[in-house]
Amino acid sequence: MPPPSRVAGRRRRLLMVRPRRRTAASSVPPLRRDAAPPPSRVAGRRRRLLPTRLDLSEPALDLPAEAGSPGPPPRAAGGGVSTGGKVGLPALDVALAFPQATPASLFPPAVSDYYQLDDLLTDEEKALRKKVRGVMEKEIAPIMTEYWEKAEFPFHAIPKLASLGLAGGTTKGYGCPGLSLTASAIATAEVARVDASCSTFILVHASLVMPTIALCGSESQKQQYLQSLAQFKTLGCWALTEPDYGSDASSLRTSASKVPSGNSTFADMLIILARNEDTNQLNGFIVKKGVSGLKATKIENKIGLRMVQNGDIVLNNVFVPEEDRLPGICSFKDINEVFAMSRVMVAWQPIGISMGVFDMCHRYLKERKSPLAAFQLNQEKLARMLGNIQAMVLVGWRLCKMYESGKLTPGHSSLGKAWTSRKAREVVSLGRELLGGNGILADFLVAKAFCDLEPIFSYEGTYDINSLVTGNEITGIASFKPAVIAKSRL
Ligand SMILES: Cc1cc2nc3c(=O)[nH]c(=O)nc-3n(C[C@H](O)[C@H](O)[C@H](O)COP(=O)(O)OP(=O)(O)OC[C@H]3O[C@@H](n4cnc5c(N)ncnc54)[C@H](O)[C@@H]3O)c2cc1C
Repeated sequence: MPPPSRVAGRRRRLLMVRPRRRTAASSVPPLRRDAAPPPSRVAGRRRRLLPTRLDLSEPALDLPAEAGSPGPPPRAAGGGVSTGGKVGLPALDVALAFPQATPASLFPPAVSDYYQLDDLLTDEEKALRKKVRGVMEKEIAPIMTEYWEKAEFPFHAIPKLASLGLAGGTTKGYGCPGLSLTASAIATAEVARVDASCSTFILVHASLVMPTIALCGSESQKQQYLQSLAQFKTLGCWALTEPDYGSDASSLRTSASKVPSGNSTFADMLIILARNEDTNQLNGFIVKKGVSGLKATKIENKIGLRMVQNGDIVLNNVFVPEEDRLPGICSFKDINEVFAMSRVMVAWQPIGISMGVFDMCHRYLKERKSPLAAFQLNQEKLARMLGNIQAMVLVGWRLCKMYESGKLTPGHSSLGKAWTSRKAREVVSLGRELLGGNGILADFLVAKAFCDLEPIFSYEGTYDINSLVTGNEITGIASFKPAVIAKSRL
């Protein structure tokens, strides 16, 4: 720890990222909670270290509960909850309130592939989709409303999610599945069709953390982390956003307070992106859970993706040995490849959410007594939702093919993410309308999906920023910074 005066002198939310000339005693934190490295290893590497201190200034905050902590018992089939009264949820037993309805815990059949876009997929991609659909409908659908309401992640379901073999996506070797981007994307949509929080949990881990290590890490970092991450034995989080710089990430300062990174409250390792004071360029670091000076606090009161454990990350003079610096990140350009892939994946989340909402509305309108499905206006809404979904799938599929053939540009992926999230907003809004009063109950999926789409509209580049990335590409004029701001920084 630095002398108190040094910490006090930096109470400016600053993150000092600078190489130190002399070596320092380092406590390399263990990757796994219970496996401390032998002292000789630490000592043996001291001379090679180019230590970095991620420095801050915020008061220490409490670390929340750890991954693996037992969750409450799952909701009983049929919509009830077998919690022994501990949880106090849910408010509504759908089967009682709406007796002719199929219990909400039974996810509706998938009926949105109107144009038979299945024909565009390979047999392997179809098989993966079937597997993912089965696990999501059976394991996650019955419990998701309860966990969403409680804003807790169902850690006990992680082995089931791991069994899907999605983490690592397109990465080959190191225990990763080496899927096609199309297969990863289809799987992302299937997860999001049932639950967007689970899909975000997987995306942060598998489409940000893992590709960053695979593309920008050293050989030993790949050996050390990728297999464990692919099996969800190690959980990761990825932190770029700062309180003052979200959309404008290139203005990243030396702040050590990062918000609101998914999975950060329980992650075993965090990828932290920070500016190197000497080079003024971006660097990436692996910061291990438990290291002195690292605190992550759960962000409460979210209205969407409530199962995702977003956290404020505070780094107070955190020591990072050189071996944990990602050698492939020396500027923002170096993470473009990660963004290209992750943005395509995120573009598929609104597609999956829209599919699930359509499926639920389709069943609901036919089961409701009136029957609601007979009204012309309701049919028009269903048709509009379905039309959007057909177009979204085609755009998403084309993004994958362009990526796979090396033709995808940042503008392409940004337009895809911006457009699918915008079209999905219309779909979930129509779906919410179609369910009337039940359209505001999380139990019927649609209200939950309606809320879950909002953070997706804003993360991985807001709709506006992604549109400007495309605008820049097609006009050659960057308009990210208003003239007044650009001028003041000269
Ligand atoms: C659920 C969730 C999970 C997240 N997970 C992660 C994570 O894992 N890791 C991580 O690093 N970050 C994460 N984020 C942060 C996310 O990436 C940012 O919220 C996002 O980049 C937007 O930044 P901001 O919130 O600071 O919005 P701001 O940048 O403050 O934007 C506010 C509004 O201004 C508009 N705007 C901003 N700049 C411009 C401009 N130049 N031109 C036109 N309009 C502009 C935006 O479009 C938006 O409408 C997450 C966010 C959420 C909600």
